[in-house]
Amino acid sequence: MKIIMLGAPGAGKGTQAKQIAAKYQIPHISTGDIFRANIKNGTELGKKAKTYMDQGALVPDELTCDLVMDRIQQDDCKNGFVLDGFPRTIPQAQALDAALKKISQTMDFAIDVDVPDENIVNRMGGRRACLNCGATYHIEFNPTKTEGKCDVCGNETVLRDDDKPETVQKRLSVYHEQTQPLIDYYKNQGILKSVDGTKPMDDVFTDIVAILGE
Ligand code: ADP
Ligand code: ADP
Ligand code: ZN
Repeated sequence: MKIIMLGAPGAGKGTQAKQIAAKYQIPHISTGDIFRANIKNGTELGKKAKTYMDQGALVPDELTCDLVMDRIQQDDCKNGFVLDGFPRTIPQAQALDAALKKISQTMDFAIDVDVPDENIVNRMGGRRACLNCGATYHIEFNPTKTEGKCDVCGNETVLRDDDKPETVQKRLSVYHEQTQPLIDYYKNQGILKSVDGTKPMDDVFTDIVAILGE
């Protein structure tokens, strides 16, 4: 099963993608996590990506597309994958379609996790991330067992630099300009499904499973 998660920053794509990956036994591919891992390891890619991410802008397609195309051709993606945070632009979606076409494949589902802008600022302000293992929490909706410590690996959890209110506004406008058009793109392909992302996390997941099948 090959799935794309669509939705504004903070809509809950990552939260749902992790559960989808576990239930359907497919890899969770988050471009944001890949960039953050590169930043942490001080790679060239990380250095380049950071300048854009810090401003709430998108990393250019040239730096993003090849990375994802390589990843989805790895062995563990044979039975499918869930893409979280990619594609984010029409050219990225076209690059993905072209790569799949070469191997006579297409995406199966694009799931839009729909959350209005009003809810997003609160979601992102309360998000806490573990930069060691990629786990995400919310101070109100999904707190860590011990304040400030990752449940999974024990590292400290932090407010991401790009989750500060100034940058969140910028990311939201980038989303509306560059990513939201993908909703129509996948609607036209007949694979778009929408879920109400304002519901509690477990209810959103139940709705997604109803779409994907048990
Ligand atoms: P969120 O989960 O809050 O939407 P991500 O972790 O997906 O955030 O992305 C963080 C940042 O990484 C984005 O604001 C952008 O700068 C960069 N990024 C992630 N994925 C992409 C992509 N597909 N294209 C361009 N930039 C990306
Ligand atoms: P995205 O990957 O779309 O940027 P995340 O999955 O990281 O979004 O979720 C953003 C924040 O909102 C996190 O702090 C997460 O714990 C929280 N969150 C996710 N889904 C829900 C939900 N349905 N209700 C309340 N909070 C949620
Ligand atoms: Zn952790």
